[in-house]
Amino acid sequence: VFNFSPGPATLPEAVLRQAAEEMLDWHGSGMSVMEMSHRGKEFIAIHAEAEAMLRELMGIPSNYKVLFMQGGAIGENAIVPLNLIGRTGTADYVVTGDWSKKSVKEAKNYGKVNTAATGEASKFTAIPKQSEWKLDPQAAYVHICSNETIGGVEYHWTPDTGSVPLVADMSSNILSRPIDVSRYGLIYAGAQKNMGPSGVTVVIVRDDLLGHALPITPSAFNYQLQAENDSMYNTPPTYAIYIAGLVYRHVKANGGLAAMEEHNRAKARILYDYLDASSFYRNPVAKEDRSLMNVPFKLKDDSLDEAFLKGAQARGMIQLKGHRSVGGMRASIYNAMPIEGVKALVAYMQEFEKQHG
Ligand code: PLP
Repeated sequence: VFNFSPGPATLPEAVLRQAAEEMLDWHGSGMSVMEMSHRGKEFIAIHAEAEAMLRELMGIPSNYKVLFMQGGAIGENAIVPLNLIGRTGTADYVVTGDWSKKSVKEAKNYGKVNTAATGEASKFTAIPKQSEWKLDPQAAYVHICSNETIGGVEYHWTPDTGSVPLVADMSSNILSRPIDVSRYGLIYAGAQKNMGPSGVTVVIVRDDLLGHALPITPSAFNYQLQAENDSMYNTPPTYAIYIAGLVYRHVKANGGLAAMEEHNRAKARILYDYLDASSFYRNPVAKEDRSLMNVPFKLKDDSLDEAFLKGAQARGMIQLKGHRSVGGMRASIYNAMPIEGVKALVAYMQEFEKQHG
């Protein structure tokens, strides 16, 4: 089966097999990872390895903390302003689709929020050029969503925000290619696309941004408190951290982020080339802003959607239905989707087009 879910998404089979083997007795400890105290030496080793592996994969500089938190990326929509907006009381947001719209709405509860740019005029099919952004030099930070999972638009460049820290929701493209972490003040991502199961949210935050939390910040969501306690101020999502660590190790063994990028570009090219050559299917996103991770597409006649999905399911291709807000289809092709999955999808799309076109 090829699983095109946008998240929680398909995981590397080797990781699932290892987790299954270790399920009842982790490394001779007599315990499942689920049964370990987060303060015991076994889990502390699992946690430390996951962090070290992520630091190595992403080249995270030593002046950044890595936190494994709960609350998901929607939680971070509040947690980021709670921790950072107090520096100046105002923040800039760039709106490129549904997820960044949600971020703005939540942030407004904690300070003054300026929409520095929006892709609304293009119906969110393109990322506004930085020359059109109206940035406030007094902003505490500039927030972007590096990959809009629903609309399928992705930044293929890093905004230059000068001395104002850049904050990115990387939930759906983290680990898909190398990035320069030092260009960001803070990166956050829910794990359930490229890193593991839902339940853990990774936050990578530059040291100097700690210590500015608003007094109303819940202690479990205070970055400084979590950093001082190695993400163990409260009980961390231990099992999700363990699986994320296995995924990091797997990505490293498969060539790291440069190899992921090559593999992801090859997969996306096959799908977009076919979509562009066909008059039966279409993807509305500007070519330079197309996501390598989430490829939404529509059929010429949406009354065929159900038949398309049924045929796909019968051929072992599942969870292709588009987000309920946009309809159509969406193929999510994260790191763990093999190129064979994309080839099988395109072969089926051709067959369907021949039959119904
Ligand atoms: N941000 C992005 C880019 C996402 O893709 C998602 C989930 O799909 C979220 C935020 C919300 O994540 P969660 O439901 O884990 O809070």
